[in-house]
Amino acid sequence: MSFLKPFIKNHQYNWIKKQVDQIQQAIGTSNSQVLEATKYETYLKLMEKFPDASEKERNVLENMVSLKSEVECQEFIQRLEPLVEAFPPVTKQTLKSLFSKTKNLKVPDLDTYDFRYMTYLSWSDPGTNQFFIVYPLNGQLVGIKGKYTLVHKKNICFACNKHEEVALFSAIAKTKKHQIHSDHYQAFGNYLCINNEVCNKNITDITSLESFIEKVLGNV
Ligand SMILES: [Zn+2]
Repeated sequence: MSFLKPFIKNHQYNWIKKQVDQIQQAIGTSNSQVLEATKYETYLKLMEKFPDASEKERNVLENMVSLKSEVECQEFIQRLEPLVEAFPPVTKQTLKSLFSKTKNLKVPDLDTYDFRYMTYLSWSDPGTNQFFIVYPLNGQLVGIKGKYTLVHKKNICFACNKHEEVALFSAIAKTKKHQIHSDHYQAFGNYLCINNEVCNKNITDITSLESFIEKVLGNV
């Protein structure tokens, strides 16, 4: 596999781990019908999850469907690790230019993040009650910010769809160009994981996150 460049996104890697875990459990039950059904479902979803995969990439991924033992499952996951795409390089300067209009921007300590397994970067500034998200949208880093309210209980995170410690994140959508003379603006609120690392480990689908970001950016 060494001839392949990293092509697996963090959320796809999380999804693969989840599917392989299900396959491993099915192997454990020694129920061949369950195992075949799980593998078939995995095979169908693979096409959905990797619509742009090349033939070589697809061949690597399709090995999932022929895993026969728990050891093979573990080895498969390990072999994929070098094929996971890291988050684009981000420096404090990158963040400052993404949020150039924010006065006294408080940038996070980037050394505390694991950029190897990251779908999006987020941090909060308790001093100003602001929450920031950075995401590579269509290959280009974009930043959105909003206010956050701690809710002090678990709820479903809109990005990773898991029951986690969340905050209510609300952002004002940028006005579309043709509405520039209108006072009309819209706020969007969602429950989002407070802990960026937890969310990045959970997330298996980027649809909700991307559509939220697009809305706030005023692209849709
Ligand atoms: Zn989350």
